[in-house]
Amino acid sequence: MLTLIKGGKIFTPEDIGICDILVAGEKIVGMAPGIDPPTGVAMDLIDAAGMTIAPGFVDLHVHLLGGGGEAGFGSRTPEIRLSRITRAGVTTVVGCLGTDNISRTPEALLAKAFQLESEGISAYVYTGSYHLPPVTITGSVKKDIALIPKVVGVGEIAVSDHRSSQPTIDDLLRVAADARVGGLIGGKAGLVHLHMGDGPRGLEPVFRMVRESEIPISQFLPTHVTRNRSLFEQTLEFAALGGYLDITAGGDGLDFSISTGDALKQVLEAGIGLDKVSISSDANGSMPVFDEAGKVVRLAVADIQQLYLDWRNLHRSGLPLTDTLALVTSNPARRTGLFHRKGSLDPGKDADLLILTPDLEIDTVMARGRIMIQNGRHIVKGTFES
Ligand SMILES: [Zn+2]
Repeated sequence: MLTLIKGGKIFTPEDIGICDILVAGEKIVGMAPGIDPPTGVAMDLIDAAGMTIAPGFVDLHVHLLGGGGEAGFGSRTPEIRLSRITRAGVTTVVGCLGTDNISRTPEALLAKAFQLESEGISAYVYTGSYHLPPVTITGSVKKDIALIPKVVGVGEIAVSDHRSSQPTIDDLLRVAADARVGGLIGGKAGLVHLHMGDGPRGLEPVFRMVRESEIPISQFLPTHVTRNRSLFEQTLEFAALGGYLDITAGGDGLDFSISTGDALKQVLEAGIGLDKVSISSDANGSMPVFDEAGKVVRLAVADIQQLYLDWRNLHRSGLPLTDTLALVTSNPARRTGLFHRKGSLDPGKDADLLILTPDLEIDTVMARGRIMIQNGRHIVKGTFES
């Protein structure tokens, strides 16, 4: 099936001006001004004049199976559904387990990724969970990453958090080494994705891993870094050394100290390039608020829509669209080793794209060449969504 999208203003995320996009099957096959519709071939035509076209968002931290359970079984958060993902403009997710690796397993997470893929988007996973030694599918982080196509790394491993397995530096280094070697063998990112808690050690264990091993700093990606001020200051130091950072969307609504907009301002003031930064949703993870005795006083669940809302607010705060788009498209695709297929609009890449109104509302979502949302309405929903 061919689709020709005419006359949109294209951000790849680079601004390349007004261009047509030709899609064949799941791929972008042409991008140029004034592409003529081929004759004698069935084709859908989309008029995108006056609209902005951007890559579909890549969300590298989604609790596909739900998470939580930190206040008993009644606090288990639900699985994510396809229509919530596409409604947020997300066409690629990377799933993770969280605190609960008793009732939620890497096998179930992988199966959920297969389900989302069959429903039309692209889905990948991390092996492991909060805890070390890691739960895996094959019995080894190295083998999971090297041999299972959908596994891009290990995580989210909890560090400096009362819910962690209180890993030592040696524990952490062992799993990071496995991720690195598995990534090298399998041609993957082998990312070590770190959930940062609000413990006073902050990023110190991550600095130690970098200092005390040969593993490159780029192997690590700490997230939830805007949780408190001292953690974020450490994160800026980490980025100044060449490290990457991932910001959880909607942090200011989660009792985090720093909003996404303020965090980016501080990143720029510190002279750090925005290419070091990604934003993810933490969707369907539980957001427990603990009192000083460590007792849960409030429960909430993170919403993937927050990724879109944070992104749109950033644009309204005056940052250029090329920069704000990279935070949710090309940067997370690079971190997870998916950039050869995902995170930008280029011939040969998957046809994952958004058509946005002048107000940056989502009009159309295309995932792997298939229209999922059109005129703001769902065309495709999940298998069991009415
Ligand atoms: Zn987390």
